[in-house]
Amino acid sequence: MKQLEAAPPMAIARGEGAWLIDPDGRRYLDAISSWWVNLFGHCNPRINAAITDQLGRIEHVMLAGATHAPVVELSERLAKLTGLGHAFYGSDGASATEIALKMSAHYWRNSGRPEKNGFISLKNGYHGETVGALSVTDIPLFKSTYAPLLRHTVQVPTPDARLAGQGESAEAYALRCADALEAHLAEHAAATAAFIVEPLVQGAAGMAMYHPTYLSRARELCDRYQVHLIADEIAVGFGRTGTLFACEQAAIRPDFICLSKGITGGYLPLSAVLTTDDVYAAFYGDATARGFLHSHSYTGNPLACRAALAVLDIFEHDRVIVANRARAREFTGILAEVAAHPRVRHFRHLGMIWAFDVADATPGFSARFHQAALTQGVFMRPIGNTVYAMPPYVTSADEMRGLAGAIQACLADPAI
Ligand SMILES: *Cc1c(COP(=O)(O)O)cnc(C)c1O
Repeated sequence: MKQLEAAPPMAIARGEGAWLIDPDGRRYLDAISSWWVNLFGHCNPRINAAITDQLGRIEHVMLAGATHAPVVELSERLAKLTGLGHAFYGSDGASATEIALKMSAHYWRNSGRPEKNGFISLKNGYHGETVGALSVTDIPLFKSTYAPLLRHTVQVPTPDARLAGQGESAEAYALRCADALEAHLAEHAAATAAFIVEPLVQGAAGMAMYHPTYLSRARELCDRYQVHLIADEIAVGFGRTGTLFACEQAAIRPDFICLSKGITGGYLPLSAVLTTDDVYAAFYGDATARGFLHSHSYTGNPLACRAALAVLDIFEHDRVIVANRARAREFTGILAEVAAHPRVRHFRHLGMIWAFDVADATPGFSARFHQAALTQGVFMRPIGNTVYAMPPYVTSADEMRGLAGAIQACLADPAI
């Protein structure tokens, strides 16, 4: 709160496509999709219409002892898209992580192996900040203060391609990290329920990208050592990495997939955990305690489900994944000068995410860059010395040129 006295938050009165508009009519390009949730712009007419239609029918009914068409349709469509036929709904990303962790441990308990209740995650991983999710998150700034509250979990080396040795390819480094995962599993699988991972991009770590071979190897190893693989696609799902889900690029099917953020196009809080027939079967029985007892008041909220269905309609109708391929190629071209800037290191790109590190960034860089970008009409929040763009999919080439110009102007200022 003290920092806000020096840098007050911008007040936003309206939104329009990729733009945020303040009460005085000043416009800011939402270059980070409002913390990665927005897909098809602000005040999207099609999503607005779906929610408005649903408002005239039923706004909410509890999803215990009652059901409704939007949640049934959404579950069936997500099942087709992920190959995982059973859905459980929560209200945000962290609750999806909690659901997946609890369901995995409960699966092993129901299978007569209660000692399999430990969790593995990647170094620098992020899975949310409730107490269970924070236990598998590995960002010291968020975690250290609450360390006494958290469960002990194990972090294995991250395949983050920036950490590859001199002359080592991203793929070779990913395989080396998979060997470290195997070494851990070989010793500790009997006490391990699941390995949770952000597929292809570790967002909060600073858009750390890695080779898909890591995921294929992780899938093999989890199968061999009987450990669940949880794909946290909360940030990367819904087209961010160039495929609808990042796991597709490694041709793997996880045991659990966690979805949130873009699922409603950035409109309403909703998350889903999808899982396999095998997991479902472990909970099927007469005893109530054998079931997955985990309650959220707003689970499967009809308004949020309708927003999610409208998002899936847009993906299908506009062939968004294909269209984004051409869009991403064009945007990468537009950012070529940024990539070649002498202060820029590790320029990287995947799907609709672009990121780079600023070599000579000094403490406070992120806040200074954020403020400077605002004066250029762009809303960005670097993570440490990593600057990234994660624009809504409705961003035009002209808007992207404006963004590239704003980044150049910020980089040109040696005081930033
Ligand atoms: C944002 C995020 C979460 C947490 O989602 P919330 O809705 O903020 O709780 C979990 N995992 C990943 C990979 C995320 O990016």
